[in-house]
Amino acid sequence: MIILALDALDLQCIQKFNCKNLMQKEHGQTTLKGFNQERTIVLWASFLTGKNMEKEIPIKNQWEFKLQPEQTFLKFFNNYKVIDLPAFSYKQKNHEEERKLLKGYFEDKTTVEEYENLIWKIHQENKKDFFQELGKPQLLIGYFNLADTIGHLSFGLADKMATVYEELDKIAEEVKNLEEFTLIISDHGMKAVGRYGDHSRNGFYSSNHTLGLDFPEITSFYKIIRGIAKNESS
Ligand SMILES: [Zn+2]
Repeated sequence: MIILALDALDLQCIQKFNCKNLMQKEHGQTTLKGFNQERTIVLWASFLTGKNMEKEIPIKNQWEFKLQPEQTFLKFFNNYKVIDLPAFSYKQKNHEEERKLLKGYFEDKTTVEEYENLIWKIHQENKKDFFQELGKPQLLIGYFNLADTIGHLSFGLADKMATVYEELDKIAEEVKNLEEFTLIISDHGMKAVGRYGDHSRNGFYSSNHTLGLDFPEITSFYKIIRGIAKNESS
């Protein structure tokens, strides 16, 4: 099984930029009902555990929060590789640097170009890690945050977002060729605030198998993934 965890991937953008590979056989929005805020780390932790983790992750030091495999659906797999996923294998140093430059931009210390150069560098690193593992473990999770990080400073700029969505669609295309059970999922969507972007209340999901879901919650996938793991093991 392959899970593409694409931070802030948004249905409206997918449609606008006609990302055919991101729109698999079944796809739609997820709902964030039950969550007071659209916090990235909380939503990915909730995805992994199948439980709303909002209360368990205080905002202070939130990025340091880390789950053990036994707390997550990973325990149902014989082997897995999880690349850079928040709340599990998050590459702290890379993302600290990201947040520092984002803050620097609003303090006139960093340019958009400097920020984006770092974002793309981190993206290429994750891509390399992901494609090295593709087709090897029973479960491979690849986390890519381009849509979120570029979106925060440039969601209102269509050309820039088109490049981001084209890149993510290409990754989905390469995954498609493996014909493994593939779930594409985002934590929340994105909405424009002038040229900038902010988290919105709907995430996105997409599966190459029919799941029959209607506005699922991010916690709904735990049981589905467990079912897939059990099927593959039996
Ligand atoms: Zn996010």
